[in-house]
Amino acid sequence: MKETKEFKTETKKLLDMMIHSIYTHKEIFLRELISNASDAIDKRHFMSLTDSKMPIVDYEIKVEADKANRTLTISDNGIGMSKEELEDNLGTIAKSGSKEFLEQLDKKDTDVDIIGQFGVGFYSAFMVASKVEVLSHKVGSDKTYLFTSEGLDSYTIEEVDELIDGTKITLYLRENQEEENYDTYLDEYTIKELIRKYSDYVRYPIKTWVTKYDKPKDGKEDEESTHLELETINSMIPLWKKNKNEVKEEELNEFYKQKFMDYQDPLLSVFINVEGLITYRSLLFIPRKPLFNMYNDKNERGLQLYTKGVFILDKCKDLIPEYLYFVKGLVDSADLPLNISRELLQEDRQIKKIATNVEKRLLQELERMLKNEPEKYQEFFKDYGRALKFGLYENYGARKESLQDLIILHSLTLDKMVTFKEYKENMKEAQKAIYYVSNLDGTNVKDLPQVEVLKQKGYDILVLSDDVDEFMLQVMKDYDKVPFKSISEADLNLLNEEESKAIDDLKETNKDFLKTLSDDLKDDVSEVTLSKRLVDDAFCLTTKEGLSLSMEKVLKQQDSMAKASKVLELNPKHELYNKLENLYKDNKLDELKEYISFIYDQALIVEGLDPKDPIKYSKMVTKLLLK
Ligand code: ADP
Repeated sequence: MKETKEFKTETKKLLDMMIHSIYTHKEIFLRELISNASDAIDKRHFMSLTDSKMPIVDYEIKVEADKANRTLTISDNGIGMSKEELEDNLGTIAKSGSKEFLEQLDKKDTDVDIIGQFGVGFYSAFMVASKVEVLSHKVGSDKTYLFTSEGLDSYTIEEVDELIDGTKITLYLRENQEEENYDTYLDEYTIKELIRKYSDYVRYPIKTWVTKYDKPKDGKEDEESTHLELETINSMIPLWKKNKNEVKEEELNEFYKQKFMDYQDPLLSVFINVEGLITYRSLLFIPRKPLFNMYNDKNERGLQLYTKGVFILDKCKDLIPEYLYFVKGLVDSADLPLNISRELLQEDRQIKKIATNVEKRLLQELERMLKNEPEKYQEFFKDYGRALKFGLYENYGARKESLQDLIILHSLTLDKMVTFKEYKENMKEAQKAIYYVSNLDGTNVKDLPQVEVLKQKGYDILVLSDDVDEFMLQVMKDYDKVPFKSISEADLNLLNEEESKAIDDLKETNKDFLKTLSDDLKDDVSEVTLSKRLVDDAFCLTTKEGLSLSMEKVLKQQDSMAKASKVLELNPKHELYNKLENLYKDNKLDELKEYISFIYDQALIVEGLDPKDPIKYSKMVTKLLLK
């Protein structure tokens, strides 16, 4: 007898949602149905462990397409459902995930895209099917029931004669529409793809019919004949579930290439197996070269999330901090529910702990690489060093401790990349700071006036060539208590006490002269002063604390008007200084003004900046050439 029953209100709502879904990943219905089938087999298997009377069968899940009738069938020989169970499980929303999903929908205009993140299970079938039949036989019973629904207000249940093992779900696919071709789910290739993509690691074989080409018979080479074979599509054992020691590097590499669609072996692969307070396994990879889009599209970031071998989410951002956007991989944790939503993930403490741990393990591997394979590390740093620098810079240097020893910068003395630690080890006894010079445009910093003195003292200088470098050092402030100091900073004093005092005295006696010069340049520099660092050169431009010249350049490119507070330093031992002094004494103040602004322009050019007024500057050069 066929009974017709009403769906419960909330079920109707969910069905309605599925039917009118414009969700773009409708394909996940297959994952959901296969996952149910796998659970059903789990249950049967569990029963068979305690009940010796249960017949032993070869467990399997079958996905079969019938193109003529436009149906797709998913069958399993799992535990099956009794009549009551069909009503309870499929007629009402039993599942917490679906309930939660509906609550979310009630709360706000939820993005339809979240459907995939909720395990909406069985009902997802209605995204692709206009009618669904569930034929089920509960283990140990002598009856089989057929549940039929067209996704409307009601469903029917009837007893049928057919005797089957387990559950067989038949989807009558919807009519094709312009924007959606449902026939694709009948396609052998699509079915195989979907099984591999979403259910590769389901523990039981998932089989489908696969076209095989027959061997050509004699003389009939051109006549291609084919037959179909039922073939297992999924690999069943996740690589990361294997014993870590048994997984070879090649296996990891192959896995990476297949899964993340790269043609090169990864630069680094990490296998993590953590058991204890948090239990998870993870495979992490750093592509040999940044993958297409990696820089531009930060949305590509994230690790795949599995729970108990079932694929949940493709790019789970919460599993990895933003600065590690280039890391590919996955995390499998048995402690997470299958139906966890994106919103819940963000809150989930388990996920947070895993993320912290994943980050720590990855940085440890990088440290190891830096120590044991320095050349490989350089290769890594060339492509991804910037990301680590951002990591340091972010959040006011909160990650300083964990990242500072992974940074390498170019040493002027050694002419190679060094860590801060190496720099510090090579420091001279009297040296009080880690010196750096910015070199964003590849100018020859070796000959900069500011470099001279340091070189004479045997101090090394780090050459910064990345625009984030200086911002990073500013955030860090020091390394192991040694402060960073730009060689262009105005208060840099490299003289001994006596020499320093001599300059101070000279400044005092020349107070009025220097004031006149400062006034002449008052729109451009905060001060014209006597240098405590220049040896051979006549002048140089430095900056007071805060923005440096190179940072000003970087910011200018980003349309910022922020200006460094500049200081023009003059070398009192230089002839040019005497010349200026004489003009002042002879009261040739106009000429003096012309000279000092010309000197300022030159100082700008040395720093790789444009002269203030190129026309005036050029006229001045011409005039001097003719003298
Ligand atoms: P979930 O599987 O997350 O509980 P579903 O809506 O997908 O939610 O399914 C509801 C219930 O129906 C399941 O919990 C299970 O008891 C039952 N069920 C679904 N598919 C099958 C199946 N293939 N075999 C046996 N029971 C099933």
